[in-house]
Amino acid sequence: MKATLIYGKGDIRIENVPDPELKDPTDAVVRVVRSCICGSDLWPYGSKEASDEGARIGHEFLGVIEDIGSEVDGLAKGDLVVAPFVWADNTCDFCAEGLQTSCRHGGGWGMNGVDGGQGEAVRVPQAQGTLVKLPVGEDSALLPSLLTLSDVFSTGHHCAVTAGVSEGDTVTVIGDGAVGLSAVLAAKRLGAEQIILMGRHTARTDLGREFGATDVVAERGDEGIEKVRELTGGDGTRKVLECVGHEAAMDMALGAVRSGGTVSRVGVPQYDKVTAGSQFFMNNITLTGGVAPARAYIEELMPDVLDGKVEPGKVFDVSMGLDDVPTGYQQMADREALKVIVTP
Ligand SMILES: [Zn+2]
Repeated sequence: MKATLIYGKGDIRIENVPDPELKDPTDAVVRVVRSCICGSDLWPYGSKEASDEGARIGHEFLGVIEDIGSEVDGLAKGDLVVAPFVWADNTCDFCAEGLQTSCRHGGGWGMNGVDGGQGEAVRVPQAQGTLVKLPVGEDSALLPSLLTLSDVFSTGHHCAVTAGVSEGDTVTVIGDGAVGLSAVLAAKRLGAEQIILMGRHTARTDLGREFGATDVVAERGDEGIEKVRELTGGDGTRKVLECVGHEAAMDMALGAVRSGGTVSRVGVPQYDKVTAGSQFFMNNITLTGGVAPARAYIEELMPDVLDGKVEPGKVFDVSMGLDDVPTGYQQMADREALKVIVTP
């Protein structure tokens, strides 16, 4: 079968790899129907050291179960399923707490002999705990939105949940990438009244407005913070959702939050330290967030997707086949594409 490999910075290749087979009785083999490229895939794409051996990549996919191990209950060959961006048993103590990203028997895609999601098929470890059955056919128009449960919409939701966004809340979302826009949608879904989206790409902030943003701030840095304060009677918002991962974005988040408020971050941090000095202390700011346990949210979010109450799949603006994935990475890195969906 064909799959996507990364050989280093800017070097993505589609190659033939061995077809996946069951290794453990807890495995399933899934034929991928849709996958996508993540903003977080762009970090290795922009920085990975060159290597003679490519590494499998991709961690968001949905597909059809083609083969299933003897110890997997509740799923069957032919089921259409979505996989969260890490695999997990969904039974250990961390999983029971809704922290499947810390599963004692789980792991990531595209590492340690596990397939990546950007390929024609994937061997799924801990299939019973990992995969969630989708009650639609593989020709459903809902597939893009259902695919976002794998990562991007679940991550935006996690950001809003860990920030404690609730009915009538005021929220600033930093970043107009697919995660930021998903965070807008998630905050709106949880009842936020004022949602200020900080971003400067009009096509993206327009989608943000469609998702529920009440205000858009294009300015950055101190100027951006000033604009947020102007829009909030000088105070800032109670919740700030940081969906970028750069230090400058975190600095803006800490500047835009109201005293007593919460900053949640889900952008993969490209920095080691947070500047959390006296202002942070004197204003009683809470800092939270982290990697999203998507598996914990799929059942909760799916009904709204099936009902069409939310359409998170609108973040996909470019669609392509597997052979074009190297171009898809380039388009996303150049910000020509917001998020690329792949039909292998
Ligand atoms: Zn677990």
